[in-house]
Amino acid sequence: MEFKKLGEFALIDLIKVDTIHNKENVVIGIGDDAAALIPAPHQLQLVTTDMLVEMVHFDLSTTSAWQLGYKSIAVNLSDIAAMGGHPTHVVISIALPSYLSVDFVVSLYEGMKEICHEFGVNIVGGDTVSSPNGLVINVTAMGEIDPKKLQRRSGADVGDLVVVTGSLGDSGCGLELLQQGKWTDYEFFQPLVTRHVIPRPQVTAGAMLASFGSTSMNDISDGLASEVNEIARASHVGMRIYAKMIPLSAEVCAAARALGKEGLEYALYGGEDYQLVFTIPPQQFSLVSQADLGTKLTVIGEVIEERYGVLLVDEEGAESLLEPKGYNHFRQ
Ligand code: ADP
Ligand code: MG
Repeated sequence: MEFKKLGEFALIDLIKVDTIHNKENVVIGIGDDAAALIPAPHQLQLVTTDMLVEMVHFDLSTTSAWQLGYKSIAVNLSDIAAMGGHPTHVVISIALPSYLSVDFVVSLYEGMKEICHEFGVNIVGGDTVSSPNGLVINVTAMGEIDPKKLQRRSGADVGDLVVVTGSLGDSGCGLELLQQGKWTDYEFFQPLVTRHVIPRPQVTAGAMLASFGSTSMNDISDGLASEVNEIARASHVGMRIYAKMIPLSAEVCAAARALGKEGLEYALYGGEDYQLVFTIPPQQFSLVSQADLGTKLTVIGEVIEERYGVLLVDEEGAESLLEPKGYNHFRQ
């Protein structure tokens, strides 16, 4: 059905169903002029926003409405995770072109509601407008954190270990497989594509790492090279990252071979893994490595003095500067 026939209010009524997953901290959700929320005492409020534009951030020929909904929330929860926080609420604004159907929007919100349900996050409002040209989705997420556990980019100290969650490069490789129309060529391509279209934010790990005394954290949205440089710059430190320690999945290694590329390239410069990179003193790391974070942790390097810069040590042991190039919209 077309939106015009249904009308804005009826559409919001459809959206409104099943949006509150944690009743305790909401007085008013969707349906009034503003949401009314109950903040947890003595917690800092985290707020982050991300905008997704059709043909810049997604292509409806390679993603479904459900997947797009899931991902548009996931990328925001990932930013809350990278502060060490727990996500609580989201507001969602959408600009809808006339070629999309009501079913599309319902399915988009089903994907959003699925991940919000998973993480106990409420959808408490938004805005719905028409777009003359392409779909735009803006999600703002809120979260909370104990002030003592707040994870800035600026807290890394010389001597800390540099550690990542999960494995890197899968999403960037999955995107390339999608763009080249090759995702059905081999069975092992599929998990890479899945990691690109429905990334899982590392919310549990982020909060636990913060409790175990990580000193700085970033989510990996633009490739590892870019993210470690951001931490190094903000913390006024250098880093030595060892190429052979960077965790790569068996799938990305095999797919990279099939594409004539290196798995490492995707890990360093591919986008949208939404894993976490953090720094932590070695004593703290030995404690956290015994805990169950629901994901693996891999030490990839160490924090050194600022004057050395951010270095990549290759397989032969040769060092070179690791440039902060990654997926960047303005440098394409
Ligand atoms: P107002 O005119 O006061 O801005 P709206 O008619 O735009 O109110 O919205 C009515 C209610 O629906 C509000 O609670 C708003 O936050 C919510 N809402 C509108 N669009 C969306 C959307 N796309 N997703 C979630 N909530 C929405
Ligand atoms: Mg409005």
